[in-house]
Amino acid sequence: MSQISKLAGVCGWPIHHSLSPLLHNYWLRETGIKGVYIPFALRPDEALRAFRSLKQTSISGVNVTLPLKEIAYEAADEVTDDAEKLGVANCLYKRGGKLVAHNTDLEGFAAPLLSQMGANELSGATVLIIGAGGAAKAVIGALLSLAVPEIRITNRTDDKAAALADIVNLPSFYAVPWAERNQSLRSADIIVNASAAGMKGMPELDIDLDGALDSAFIYDLIYTPRNTGLLKQAKARKLRHLGGLEMLIAQARPSFKLFYGRPAPRDSDPTEALLHALKTGVR
Ligand code: NAP
Repeated sequence: MSQISKLAGVCGWPIHHSLSPLLHNYWLRETGIKGVYIPFALRPDEALRAFRSLKQTSISGVNVTLPLKEIAYEAADEVTDDAEKLGVANCLYKRGGKLVAHNTDLEGFAAPLLSQMGANELSGATVLIIGAGGAAKAVIGALLSLAVPEIRITNRTDDKAAALADIVNLPSFYAVPWAERNQSLRSADIIVNASAAGMKGMPELDIDLDGALDSAFIYDLIYTPRNTGLLKQAKARKLRHLGGLEMLIAQARPSFKLFYGRPAPRDSDPTEALLHALKTGVR
């Protein structure tokens, strides 16, 4: 008797831009798992009902992208610690008859950083986060879990960074005025761009790495373009650096394991396939 295909997918509105089908179907081919991964366009006003009905279907789980992440969180019977930290879910799966909301962005941010830097160096690092939107919240959640000793946050709109510092409410976490960002980065071990600046079609991030420590590590979450202005500055200064494609791949790995029951292979790299899709627009 032939094995039934495992079915999963990604929900969003719109959804045509999502790279998740490419990543998951790439790993399905590499592992030989009999499964499919499909993009589902899901209207926000139908999403709560659709997510709640997942338990009555043979779908293993779904990833969730904008603007449905809050609705996915609300729809679940249970939430994981990582989803609770952010109050939004990018992954819904079934466990013991319950619908579980999870968020893989924290692991997605942390895993590439840990593999490049190591837990020891991270445990003594001062981090400057640029940006105060959804991506910055995932970065904060991950860095707090890693018990990084000092976290600074700066944002073009100062009030939003200050509001996040109020919510976190820890002496080791504080907001730096946007006007002081270049001064603050001089004593930062890790500088994370979690803002949209530098993304294709957006202005470059207005920051100057000239004063950064020689040992500084630059992590730009942007992946289109791959070589952002910030990463160009980092390369010119011969600073260690990491782009956003690594996080994009790392945040998809935990979902793959949850949906198909086996880890995504480590020895086959989807980067080239992703770059081709980004260049041609073909998903
Ligand atoms: P968001 O919630 O819309 O927040 C955007 C942030 O960017 C805000 O803090 C905003 O500041 C700031 N910003 C926008 N234009 C700016 C500019 N010209 N100069 C300085 N700051 C600017 O977006 P998000 O979801 O946090 O995503 C942010 C970026 O992270 C996106 O570009 C996305 O590509 C990237 N990202 C990557 C991954 C990955 O897997 N690699 C995952 C998630 C996100 P204001 O508050 O002043 O408007």
